[in-house]
Amino acid sequence: MSIKENIDNIMKRVIASSEKSGRDYKDITVIAVSKTVDSQRAKEAVENGLDNLGENRVQELVSKYEQLQDQDIKWHMIGHLQKNKVKYIIDKVELIHSVESDSLAEEINKKAKQQGLIAKVLIELNIGEEESKFGVREEDAYKFVKALEKYENIKIMGLMTVAPYAENPEDIRWIFRKMKEIYNNISNMNLSNVEMKYLSMGMTNDFEIAIEEGANIIRIGTAIFGARDYSK
Ligand SMILES: *Cc1c(COP(=O)(O)O)cnc(C)c1O
Repeated sequence: MSIKENIDNIMKRVIASSEKSGRDYKDITVIAVSKTVDSQRAKEAVENGLDNLGENRVQELVSKYEQLQDQDIKWHMIGHLQKNKVKYIIDKVELIHSVESDSLAEEINKKAKQQGLIAKVLIELNIGEEESKFGVREEDAYKFVKALEKYENIKIMGLMTVAPYAENPEDIRWIFRKMKEIYNNISNMNLSNVEMKYLSMGMTNDFEIAIEEGANIIRIGTAIFGARDYSK
């Protein structure tokens, strides 16, 4: 299957699950996750309508950013971000999905201030995965969001999660539902640094369930580009 066919197929499924849950598919942004994929193939996704690209490593994001500068692309940092690398991407990304510590937020704030911009970020939550190193726990989420009010050059635009892989994605529906609940609760806190707009959840294996539970950003890699080759 070509990238175009894969995207057509995904869009059909996005439309079907939006309709099923009474939502407008146009409100759902599909990020093409281009990690490990070369820039030519990433560009094919852009040419087929997906102009939001997601990367989980700074070096790869910057390299593709440079190679695809003639394209109108919105870049998303979706992976774990090290503080010392914030400076390389701060002026290149539309949204940082993976803010999960005060010290990372502090660094993003500092670099954003130096560049005279407001960094748009999502808070990464860790729901239901005991083992995972990354993400803020539910019980700490509200306190964490509130604590970031002191950073004037950061705007919290929503939440993100990476759900654990489940053979049957119905088994992790509760995680997406919980995310939406926390999202609504944070919305209702009416904090000055928060403008709840995005709920980034759902990947190749589970995006339909995520949409049914309220995702408005889904991050799709494998279903667009095929299985990743990490050997290169
Ligand atoms: C790799 C990755 C994805 C895409 O995963 P697929 O299962 O290939 O769709 C989404 N989100 C994050 C954070 C990722 O690292």
